[in-house]
Amino acid sequence: MSNILSPTPHNIQLCANAIKNGEVVAFCTETVYGLGADAFSIDAVKKIFSLKGREEDNPLIVHISDISQVHELAREVPDRALKLMQKLMPGPISIVLKKSKKVPGIVTAGLDTVAIRMPRNASALELIKHSGIPIAAPSANISGTPSPTIAQHVENDFKNKLQFVLDGGQCEIGIESSVIDLSGSMPRILREGKVTKEEIEAVLGEKVEVLTNSNKPLSPGMKYKHYAPKAQVIFIEHGGYPILPVGLRGKKVKIISMKNCISTDEYAKNLFLNFRKADDEGYEVIVCELARDAGIGRAINNRIRKASSKM
Ligand code: AMP
Ligand code: MG
Repeated sequence: MSNILSPTPHNIQLCANAIKNGEVVAFCTETVYGLGADAFSIDAVKKIFSLKGREEDNPLIVHISDISQVHELAREVPDRALKLMQKLMPGPISIVLKKSKKVPGIVTAGLDTVAIRMPRNASALELIKHSGIPIAAPSANISGTPSPTIAQHVENDFKNKLQFVLDGGQCEIGIESSVIDLSGSMPRILREGKVTKEEIEAVLGEKVEVLTNSNKPLSPGMKYKHYAPKAQVIFIEHGGYPILPVGLRGKKVKIISMKNCISTDEYAKNLFLNFRKADDEGYEVIVCELARDAGIGRAINNRIRKASSKM
């Protein structure tokens, strides 16, 4: 029997009860599917790490359904955070703040900071609200593989190990949230996403540094291999012609390009879906076109480059 549930009020309550009981539930958000558990329960959060095969030094994002919950999770909420929360939450952005004592160290991988996000997907919000507690949730994939953007891809990774997958259809955005660190003296973007540097700067009224390509592992998760399908990913420049390196000729090659896409947003939405489809169809190599390096294109290119890196 499939454990994929449509997001009816009854099913959402079922999933919320499971979270309250210390179980792990996968759910749809507007970015990618998340694998959630009670953020205040060490035992429940441990289950997430073990299911995903995630390194314990890679912290989780804590999901809330109401902005007021931030005060329970963070011991300091600077003006910058208030501004961003007011304008951009709920939405595809995670804000890193100094953590409160209530947040267990396992959630933040021992860091003194916690990443907080309020998704705008209706079933995600309902799930968090009915759980009555913040939900710690990384992407609902086995570590290292492309993030899942449909319920079936969660199921493919975890088979029958998950009691419930709350199916919200295909994720609207398709790549993970922007992560911005507001715990220090200067705001810093640790991971680019749908919410761009320009949007954040407009809200804050100041310049914001992007540290995603920094060599220092400021966001611990950045040092791990990410987003990679089984097929080898080779990227070409935006608008470039897909040429295969000599050593790979004769392999079964899938080309993922922007040619048939109506927008960069659509390219983002289908990127991980296309990676996983290529694997399902037995492709050995994916030649993937980079997006124009602006707006969400920057986040897309970050994911494609990581998917192609050997790390
Ligand atoms: P995932 O939800 O699987 O996309 O992973 C969460 C991402 O958020 C990882 O890259 C983490 O390193 C990052 N993250 C979570 N908490 C923090 C934090 N306190 N400081 C910096 N980065 C964080
Ligand atoms: Mg992830």
